[in-house]
Amino acid sequence: MVYFFAAGKSDGDASLRSLLGGKGANLAEMATIGIPVPPGFTITTEVCDMYYKGGKQFPAGLKEEVAANLAKLEAETGKKLGDPTNPLLVSVRSGAADSMPGMMDTILNLGINDEVVEGLIKKSNNPRFAWDSYRRFIQMFADVAMDVEKENFEHALEAMKHKKGVVLDTELSSDDLKALVQEYKAIYKKIKGEDFPTDAQQQMWLSSEAVFRSWNNDRAIYYRKSNDIKGLLGTAVNIQSMVFGNMGETSGTGVCFSRNPSNGDNYFYGEYLMNAQGEDVVAGIRTPQKMSVLESRMWSDANTINEADRAAKYPSLEEKMPEAYKKLVGVRDLLEKHYKDMQDMEFTIESGNLYILQTRNGKRTGSAAVKMAVDMQKEGLIDEKTAVLRVKPEQLDQLLHPRFKVASKRTIIAKGLNASPGAAVGQAVYSAKVAVEWAEKGKNVLLIRIETSPEDIKGMAVAKGILTARGGATSHAAVVARQMGKPCIAGCGALNIDYKTNQMEVAGNIIKEGDWVSFDGSTGEVYLGKVDTEEAVLSGAFGELMAMADKFMDGKIHVRANADSPKDAKTAREYGAKGIGLCRTEHMFFEGVRINSVRKMILSDTLEEREKALAELEPMQKADFKGLFETMHGYPVVIRLLDPPLHEFLPHTEAEQKELASLMGLSFETVKHRVDELHEFNPMLGFRGARLGIVYPEISKMQIRAITDAAIELTKAGVHIIPEIMFPLIMVKEELDIMVGYAKEIIAEKTAKAGVNPHILLGTMIEVPRAALTADEIAETAEFFSFGTNDLTQMTCGLSRDDSGSFLGTYVDKGIFEYEPFQVLDQKGVGRLMKTAIELGRKTKPNLEIGICGEHGGEPKTVMFCYEIGMNYVSCSPFRVPVARLAAAHGVIKGMK
Ligand code: ADP
Ligand code: MG
Ligand code: MG
Repeated sequence: MVYFFAAGKSDGDASLRSLLGGKGANLAEMATIGIPVPPGFTITTEVCDMYYKGGKQFPAGLKEEVAANLAKLEAETGKKLGDPTNPLLVSVRSGAADSMPGMMDTILNLGINDEVVEGLIKKSNNPRFAWDSYRRFIQMFADVAMDVEKENFEHALEAMKHKKGVVLDTELSSDDLKALVQEYKAIYKKIKGEDFPTDAQQQMWLSSEAVFRSWNNDRAIYYRKSNDIKGLLGTAVNIQSMVFGNMGETSGTGVCFSRNPSNGDNYFYGEYLMNAQGEDVVAGIRTPQKMSVLESRMWSDANTINEADRAAKYPSLEEKMPEAYKKLVGVRDLLEKHYKDMQDMEFTIESGNLYILQTRNGKRTGSAAVKMAVDMQKEGLIDEKTAVLRVKPEQLDQLLHPRFKVASKRTIIAKGLNASPGAAVGQAVYSAKVAVEWAEKGKNVLLIRIETSPEDIKGMAVAKGILTARGGATSHAAVVARQMGKPCIAGCGALNIDYKTNQMEVAGNIIKEGDWVSFDGSTGEVYLGKVDTEEAVLSGAFGELMAMADKFMDGKIHVRANADSPKDAKTAREYGAKGIGLCRTEHMFFEGVRINSVRKMILSDTLEEREKALAELEPMQKADFKGLFETMHGYPVVIRLLDPPLHEFLPHTEAEQKELASLMGLSFETVKHRVDELHEFNPMLGFRGARLGIVYPEISKMQIRAITDAAIELTKAGVHIIPEIMFPLIMVKEELDIMVGYAKEIIAEKTAKAGVNPHILLGTMIEVPRAALTADEIAETAEFFSFGTNDLTQMTCGLSRDDSGSFLGTYVDKGIFEYEPFQVLDQKGVGRLMKTAIELGRKTKPNLEIGICGEHGGEPKTVMFCYEIGMNYVSCSPFRVPVARLAAAHGVIKGMK
């Protein structure tokens, strides 16, 4: 239940992550590989699980194990918990297997009471340090373990600073802090009705229990849910001997990354504060300084000051404490080599001595992830497989997001820290609550806060960007925004935010709630109003990573795009699509004047009239297809024949129907009658797909002629094209036989006349369960299959895609579905049917081409599954193509192991 860690004496190591939590496992490992880590012990995540299963009771035997480990720790440090003459102080820290930054709170300086503080003074000869540690402990312990909100103490601290006429807590004297401790204890007693607990053992157990309890607080639950963290036992508790960054001007604390987590550049990145403890650096109360001279210069450039001024005003750790800095650089190099990944480290310097309090693989933006993966592969730190696996497919999403147009007009009103890249445009809101409400109404909002805290997470999740007045590059806002892949500027001091009036003043401008603001998370600049954005251009590293990914996919699986226009096809090609998996022809029917011809066709009474209307459409369709084929030359293009029910093309309000009637020279009654006639109770299971072509063959034939003519003309012109015609919503082989029959006849006739013979593949969608179950028969006619997983999910689960939103969330919350089946393919059910269809289809035609074109085709988990069950390709929206490519490569690599 308990694992000890100390140099050369660790019970655990990094491989025990799920048992010891990430923090505990890495502390044990670091102690073993010679990194200076204060010794301590870890209570396992299994104990947390037992605590909950046992009705919030510590399991039997834990007390004894902890006592034994505490004795070991006391022996190791030569100090004793609660002993006034030679006191051991400890921190109590949470730490699950997946890091959950800011979710659970740490208690520092535990073990202090009125006697111990005197002992500390005697030993350290530093009363200010002792009282500072005491007042910090009371506040943290009361807040985290005893539900006394820290605001109560912060008010007292502010009042004291005000009384003494100082701004920073470092300016308070030893006596001030001593007086504060008395005040804090009084506040505690007033609220709790009892004295502040003085027994060190009791403090330790109450704190450990608080850590376990925090596993199930709202913030932690929400964090796990929104980050898709599942299947963990709980959190571990780390009890670790304290080292002190608040011992004066040769002490300090900081947070640093082995590379820049925002853009991936390979230099030491981070911040520190002198004479500070714990979370002071991220709390944003004092402005932290940079690690290296290089970084300090990069950062202060914006302030255009000379070197001497810079060194005085923005002293780097390298300048302030060269010895400790050098050691830290050594630690950085060692840890990166050891973990073969970018490290996010927390350190403390006590009277010039360096200690590492934490290391973990650092969170990073999508572009940083790509850059680091490619760089580390080149440096020889990792191989190509690892580099490809290092970037999560979802992370690429951020890279493909828009940015500001280079020549767009902008009025800069402020500049802050460029904490997370990307262009953000939205309406200003000053609370997370309003952000959520407005976003639900479909508004684009920017969340603007003095600083953020975990309570703001929901608001941050819906905002287009996050802007804060305080805090540094490792503040809560910055860390969370990077992880969410959202643009963020932190520490923008020029913003004078007023929560009472819900507005801010910036450089003479008043920005009210709802006013438009833009900012660039890559440069840190804030602009007035809406600034024009444009699509991203991808970096060299992105291309290199994609090329590596493609090498693994080659010949195994490829990615196509769903595109209906040459413009989308071009985008798709640029993003690496190797074909069009779905062209929805109905989208073409809505364009410009065409809708009139379509409506004329639908309103026609006779075959003759219908054919006349269709003849108007035919040349336009041919031009559409030519454009697509030409853009995708060398690659296959799947054209799906008309799919939606016809009433979707007719207007539904009386006014529109009247307008249409007069345009068509018909009576209003005639139009209305036809609309009523086409009305269906369940249109998704109604008169649509191939059913339209069975009843009105002329519609399908027109489309087939247009495709064939386009193919013939381009083939004559020497363009290499690979057209595929796809018949939707087939349920029985006989339907497909009829449709394919039309196509074969038209193609044979036209190609014979033209004297060229482009090969046009004829295939079907598999989206009706009956078709999947009889896929062996259907494959006798079909030359390819493409799974339409939206309809297939609807029909397999009996879930209406349009109506199930109201309850599917509950199904996911209750664990009935792991994910909403319209977002992530239901592999067990729908996936099984697909597997069956593939096996049956290939029994008839071993080389049958099979892909997926439903919405799921760009969802990484589904993509990997599609590879596993033997598909030739997945198809998704153009912007998802890189995500799908990377996911497919992951699938291939994982399949190799
Ligand atoms: P989080 O998981 O929120 O990062 P941590 O447990 O890492 O919380 O604690 C936050 C900070 O508290 C650490 O970065 C470190 O600065 C400080 N801290 C924790 N334990 C100790 C310790 N034993 N000695 C000195 N500082 C500590
Ligand atoms: Mg924290
Ligand atoms: Mg930490």
